[in-house]
Amino acid sequence: MASTTGPEIERLIQLLAKLPGLGPRSARRAALHLVKKREQLLAPLSDAMQVARDKIIVCECCGNIDTISPCTLCADSRRETAVLVVVEDVADLWALERAGATSGRYHVLGGVLSALDGIGPKDLSLDRLLARVAEGGVSEVILALNATVDGQTTAHYITDLLSPYGVTVTKLAHGVPVGGELDYLDEGTLTAAMRQRTAV
Ligand SMILES: [Zn+2]
Repeated sequence: MASTTGPEIERLIQLLAKLPGLGPRSARRAALHLVKKREQLLAPLSDAMQVARDKIIVCECCGNIDTISPCTLCADSRRETAVLVVVEDVADLWALERAGATSGRYHVLGGVLSALDGIGPKDLSLDRLLARVAEGGVSEVILALNATVDGQTTAHYITDLLSPYGVTVTKLAHGVPVGGELDYLDEGTLTAAMRQRTAV
């Protein structure tokens, strides 16, 4: 396909097209918008990305992303240490935080078990989860995993792993629709699902 722009803009478009939710066509529009709004948008965005690249790190405790480790949530002494909320991804943590659904602490798995995608237990932060529970002080582990087949398979797997530790394991209530991903739920649904969680 013949290019209508120089290689610099073409590269910008190609990179933007890798973002979730942006296809080649919307990436082209976004790139054009950025270039037109060079001072108002392109420059501050470029600066913000540079700062993100330099400063953002993964919390060594919970797997959240922040500029400090332990992250702001892990370091917050007002949060309950007895409750550990296990999520697939940072996006799910953000969704639960937006909803104010829990005052517990989090553990980000970094994915879910998936035979199809070749993701096994070693690919998830399960060792660290067990280490956190083994340290003591945790009385309940809430499995806030997506209501997908892989999410539920992972929930069963973790429930088995945790059985020797004598902690209560719960999962979100049926407010989470089958196949539902937490990030797409409204805040009321999320909060209700958390409040009505059930033992597994
Ligand atoms: Zn953390």
